Amino acid sequence: MERLVVDPGPGVVVRVAVDAPQHSGLTGPLDYASEQVLAPGSLVRAPLGKRELLGVVWPGESAPPEVELRAVAAVFDALPPLGAAWCRMLDFAAGYYQRSVGELASAVLPPQLRELSPEQLAARLRKLERKAAKGPAAAEPVRPELAPEQAGAVARITAQVEAGAAKPLLLFGVTGSGKTEVYLRAAEAALAAGRQVLVLVPEINLTPQLEARFTERFAALLPEPLAIVSLHSALTPAQRLQNWLAAHLGRARLVLGTRLAVFASLPELGLIVVDEEHDPSYKQQDGARYSARDLAVWRAHDLKVPVVLGSATPSLESWQHAESGRYERLTLATRIGGGALPRVRLFDMKSLPPSPGVTTALTAPLLAALKERLDRGEQSLVFLNRRGYAPVLHCGECQWKSDCPHCSAWRVFHKRDRTLRCHHCGFTERVPRACPNCGNHDIAPIGRGTERLEEQLAEALPGARVLRIDADSTRRKGELEAQLQAVHDGEVDILVGTQMVTKGHDFRRIRFVAAVNPDGALFSSDFRAPERLFALLMQAAGRAGRDASGDGVSEMWVQTWHRDHALYQALARHDYERFARDQLAERRSASLPPFSHLALLRAEARTAEAAKAFLDEAAGLLQGEQVFVYPPVPHAVARVADVERMQMLVEAGQRSRLQAFLREWVPALLALKRQHKAVLRWAVDVDPLAI
Ligand code: ADP
Ligand code: ZN
Ligand code: ZN
Repeated sequence: MERLVVDPGPGVVVRVAVDAPQHSGLTGPLDYASEQVLAPGSLVRAPLGKRELLGVVWPGESAPPEVELRAVAAVFDALPPLGAAWCRMLDFAAGYYQRSVGELASAVLPPQLRELSPEQLAARLRKLERKAAKGPAAAEPVRPELAPEQAGAVARITAQVEAGAAKPLLLFGVTGSGKTEVYLRAAEAALAAGRQVLVLVPEINLTPQLEARFTERFAALLPEPLAIVSLHSALTPAQRLQNWLAAHLGRARLVLGTRLAVFASLPELGLIVVDEEHDPSYKQQDGARYSARDLAVWRAHDLKVPVVLGSATPSLESWQHAESGRYERLTLATRIGGGALPRVRLFDMKSLPPSPGVTTALTAPLLAALKERLDRGEQSLVFLNRRGYAPVLHCGECQWKSDCPHCSAWRVFHKRDRTLRCHHCGFTERVPRACPNCGNHDIAPIGRGTERLEEQLAEALPGARVLRIDADSTRRKGELEAQLQAVHDGEVDILVGTQMVTKGHDFRRIRFVAAVNPDGALFSSDFRAPERLFALLMQAAGRAGRDASGDGVSEMWVQTWHRDHALYQALARHDYERFARDQLAERRSASLPPFSHLALLRAEARTAEAAKAFLDEAAGLLQGEQVFVYPPVPHAVARVADVERMQMLVEAGQRSRLQAFLREWVPALLALKRQHKAVLRWAVDVDPLAI
């Protein structure tokens, strides 16, 4: 019998970042055998256990193998490798947010890459090549002449584009001051210098509007197909891969996207813009809990390219950096076209005559103000940050309330489809005809959500065209666009909505904005709640009077029981700086961020005791130098879907101390978890936003 001789070839060892499960304890790249030398950044498929995973060949030396290595299964050789800078960013982010680099890479690469074979990917690349230019060349865009403050800001940014970045730039501009025009000019300079530009926005909803504005401006300059692309999670998997590839190949010159776009491969990146940099949506809330804003700053620093953080109400972290001189502040203090900021009226709820049982959200003076605007043919916006009809149903006989059997929360009454819905676990039931506890037929809603407000407005102002925009009214694809269009087209008199409508939309016709029931956040246990409320109300106010051509002043109406509160007083004067100064003084005296650095360890189990036991032991695992571990406390909504949630705060005066602590602590937690079988999930959140 003839013996087969297998030539093992000149095999080499390569390090590959793959998504190994957390409990395996495999956090770094793994060693594999390869027949050929593979450049760092190459995409491969590699076996792990019984599965075959997408992997990235990782830079760095591997130790000589002690065991026989499994071989790389396939190489995506039609694709140029990811760059060294991209790998550096992933290494940094994985280390900083305490995840494995393989997990992070797998989470941020287009999902479709995981499904395709090298041959299929090669076919996609050929298809991309064949994309032909569309239609005739676009006309030269009309560029408005810059206002002096805008020109000053653009000059500072373009200086950095040319000379290399010195400091992150904080573009502090009131709503309507023309920040977007500054982004456009800055982008133009970077594009002209042959660089790619990345623009991040907080909301998917805002990408079409922004894309339209950038396309209009740059269609003539960038006529090639896929020169302007967007990256966000609402794209189809095929679109997302196509746009990602275009960026990676350098075909896309301008990339607009939500937080995940901060990880786009952009080999010629020359400018990053983070619009509405204060927005909490930049923080990922599961998996690798990264902050896209913070990573944008890191990435820009690493590449020595400018990063522009824009906001009318900067995060207090960024503001403090500007105060200390770490960031350079560029201020746009005036609205374009001289449109005045709306007058803020703090309406004192205590001034109302006491009238029990009467609805307090739609006060008579507010209705009168709305009526007046209506008679003048103006649009108004009423803002209430609570969706549904009423937050709870209540039985007056036995005090039953519509609690969720699975969560420590009420189920919200939705009148349109007559359901009780839990906004935490999704548990939904038909509204009972009678009290499920005592049979009383007279069960009544307490409190008010947007759905009820819409109904009451329509009743109180017959003939007014009232439209509600919130997560419920925009569930189906295209609904939000259609509703926004109706507002723009003047088919709506009164718009009712949650914070969804306050963000970014350039409503030209709205001249009156009312916030009802905003007080809750003043007394929240979350130290960031006032900052968020202030930003939200400033944004809401920014929706009014954007068009200076109308006559009469525009107005923001705030209904509050605490009209003397410093937050409202600062709001009334549009004085962000005053608000920031007050807040920062409080944060400083309480040693809260940005004057300290936090991480949160969360644990979930069937019982609170099991979650607490894990956290208690975790607290005792190691003594960090100048790191303080607080006792475990229940999450604000302690139980969701029959799971108890506990959390524990870790605080350090210096970021580096916290990081050093986490580097030792997290591996020890992995080992500890094995002894706590009752713990279902745990996670570390570095720089947590919601506490
Ligand atoms: P912001 O983003 O600061 O809220 P925008 O960039 O949306 O403000 O600008 C507000 C409006 O002013 C937009 O309609 C924009 O087209 C217009 N605009 C901006 N800059 C100028 C300018 N220099 N001249 C004329 N109009 C401008
Ligand atoms: Zn009852
Ligand atoms: Zn629930």
